[in-house]
Amino acid sequence: MYGIISCSGCRRKRIIDLYDKSTKCPYCGAVAVTKDMNILYRDEDQNVVRDALEASSGFVPEKKHIDENIDPMSSLEYKVEHTSDTKEKMRIIAEGLTRIKGTFTEEDVESLVPGKGEKYIKAMLTECMIYETKYGHYKM
Ligand SMILES: [Zn+2]
Repeated sequence: MYGIISCSGCRRKRIIDLYDKSTKCPYCGAVAVTKDMNILYRDEDQNVVRDALEASSGFVPEKKHIDENIDPMSSLEYKVEHTSDTKEKMRIIAEGLTRIKGTFTEEDVESLVPGKGEKYIKAMLTECMIYETKYGHYKM
């Protein structure tokens, strides 16, 4: 099994063999314990992982959807940050969190719009944009 990690020292992304117990960065020498690493992407096939890494380090727009698969929360954060219309922002958050997490909570919304989680949830419910699946859990 292979995975993409982001180095804790220099932040460079690289491919590691997830069966190795620890891994040393060839760029900065930082040693990381594999089980403690945040695996951004994983696959049995090293070629698939390599393609994903190449796609994520390039800036080719048509490969952007692969970026989203690697780090969907970051790309959602980016979209939210760059949307000024509140209603559109709510729609992006509701749609994005439902897609990534299945259901989401006020804290999830809070992490995207700090200080406004409760307000956003209430507005989304009022707009019938989301519904409550069980207490405190929502989806689009
Ligand atoms: Zn490094």
